[in-house]
Amino acid sequence: MRQSQLFTKTRREAPADETSKNAELLIRGGYIHKEMAGVYSYLPFGLIVIKKIENIIREEMNAIGGIEMKTSVLQNKEVWEKTNRWDDSVVDNWFKTKLKNGAEVGLSFTNEEAYSNILKQYVNSYKDLPIYPYDFKEIFRNEARSKSGIMRGREFYWKALYSFSKNEAEHNVFYEKAKIAYKNIFERAGIGGLTYVTFSSGGTFSKFSHEFQTVTEAGEDIIYIDEKSKIAINKEVFTDDVVESLGLKKEELIEKKAVEVGNIFTLGTKFSEPFDLKYKNEKGENEMVFMGSYGIGLGRLMGTIVELLSDDKGIVWPEAVAPFKYHLIEITSNKPEVKEWAEKIYKKLGADNVLYDDRDLRAGEKFADAELLGMPTQIIVSEKNIASGKLEIKDRKTGEVKMILEDEI
Ligand code: ATP
Ligand code: MG
Repeated sequence: MRQSQLFTKTRREAPADETSKNAELLIRGGYIHKEMAGVYSYLPFGLIVIKKIENIIREEMNAIGGIEMKTSVLQNKEVWEKTNRWDDSVVDNWFKTKLKNGAEVGLSFTNEEAYSNILKQYVNSYKDLPIYPYDFKEIFRNEARSKSGIMRGREFYWKALYSFSKNEAEHNVFYEKAKIAYKNIFERAGIGGLTYVTFSSGGTFSKFSHEFQTVTEAGEDIIYIDEKSKIAINKEVFTDDVVESLGLKKEELIEKKAVEVGNIFTLGTKFSEPFDLKYKNEKGENEMVFMGSYGIGLGRLMGTIVELLSDDKGIVWPEAVAPFKYHLIEITSNKPEVKEWAEKIYKKLGADNVLYDDRDLRAGEKFADAELLGMPTQIIVSEKNIASGKLEIKDRKTGEVKMILEDEI
């Protein structure tokens, strides 16, 4: 992409009311726009990052049998009354509105009811199971506080998968596969080394749920990490009994602040019972479907990457989620050969891979923008380089500069 075509501009300062590092850097880079507290628009580059994250998640979900669909945001009150989760005194973070005829509708704050209600129409026999539908979706929650930038939105984009299995044993097999898929996702997104499978409160059907907690000062949770086994315990379930039951030693655990980037949960029959979601087994008897849920917040993941992978100059994107792999910087010159060379490299590497700074600006401004925007590799084309026939390649992360021939890129 040519930078001259972009309408967003970088800014020296983030809005005064923005206190989180992730939103500050992303606003300054023109990745996102703050509409109000907890509500952000994704501008062109922000959207590319979200789509790259989405693709990583999609590949990993499809690899374990996930089937993508899209559930509606507007939700039917009657469906939620089945689980007693419509009432504001039970769920306090609903956004609700009314149709012209006065009927109430809600904006999805989660998906269990919608999925159970849809699947009720299709699941009859043991032959129909197991199934693993999922979607990417806008979720709305009237969060009491939203001071963590895109890590805690009142409107946010997530992936939620629900597993529908014949029984607990079948569920457990998928649950372990999902754990591995989640590890792959966070690894590929560049935060694997700081992300820990964390034992957390589980509800009625299992002792624990598993959160994927990434260590960062920007996190709102406290976890206790065992570095040897790479597992952690959330403060909310941190007791001597739990430590012992997991075979850990309390004195070896390290307390850290962390953010929950994803979680997986055994739901059992909590939702299949109220929806009467059952199937006929091989003997022709009715059995309840056994469910699990698997969530990831894409904005939260993007914000976490920025919190961890940034420095005093700006963002340092890991290659897998960077909007562009290369930032091609043409140092403005009155020699037409400079532009010609830059154009040639741009065409060769391809518009999807390169952000080409073809603007008529001072070199210092271009360099500062490149550091803030954070593409992994900068390629600098200048009059000086033409003389030597070599390009200047700068690694955004290490700052290391190399001179290489064009063919070596
Ligand atoms: P938290 O404990 O942080 O409030 P949660 O346990 O309520 O999150 P879930 O309902 O399980 O979260 O949602 C699944 C995933 O969606 C979370 O693991 C997180 O990555 C993401 N998520 C939840 N709330 C938000 C939010 N307000 N903004 C952005 N992402 C969110
Ligand atoms: Mg949670």
